[in-house]
Amino acid sequence: MANVIAVDGPSGAGKSSVSRIVGEKLGYLHVDSGALYRIMTWQCLEEKVDTSDPAAIAAFAANVAIECRPEGGRIAYYVKGEQPGNRIRTPEINAHASQVATVKEVRDRITALLRDMTRYGNLVVEGRDITTAVFPDSPARFYLTASAEARARRRQKEEVEKGIANQSAEDVKKSLLARDAIDSTRKYAPLKKADGALEIDSSDLTLEQVVETVMNALPTEWR
Ligand code: C5P
Repeated sequence: MANVIAVDGPSGAGKSSVSRIVGEKLGYLHVDSGALYRIMTWQCLEEKVDTSDPAAIAAFAANVAIECRPEGGRIAYYVKGEQPGNRIRTPEINAHASQVATVKEVRDRITALLRDMTRYGNLVVEGRDITTAVFPDSPARFYLTASAEARARRRQKEEVEKGIANQSAEDVKKSLLARDAIDSTRKYAPLKKADGALEIDSSDLTLEQVVETVMNALPTEWR
């Protein structure tokens, strides 16, 4: 059985950077589960599926073919032979992803894809329901958080650096908080700190400090 490090938390808490670095240090594959929800959302928008209609989303999502392949230290995703890249990181996808992620059929499908990835080896999986629903039995579960201001600042910097968008910090914060609200109140697998997960507030910590905290909390035989 593969080892799985599970990392949950709200947007902009630093999950991706921390998971990527921990994965590199240990030789574990990095799995960005949010990208799968973003891909579903992207495909819904491309095909003009009404993202406020759960039945329409459920029917459509069953037929979206996503290929998952280990590549360069992570699991890469392909849709119709292409990687989505920054096409799934736009403010428009941000605005619709949480709605798509409320649909049970979408969640069931993505949960099955994520569990199946253990056949590729040890994993660091980040998302919103990894510690509570996808891999709740992992002995290495973390809940990363940070103040809304710190999270918005990080996300805005990232959007500008990657040339994805040029929103104000205030607009980024509004979008983050709107997603947090939907993610933490939805019926299926809402975002919350799992019992037994280690909570790390990264507001005043450097990336290196968060990575060190995670590394030190892993089962000794995994380090
Ligand atoms: O992590 P990221 O911001 O890319 O996730 C986009 C959206 O996907 C989240 O706001 C959330 O609605 C959904 N998501 C989820 N469960 C996960 C990962 C992401 O519901 N495990």
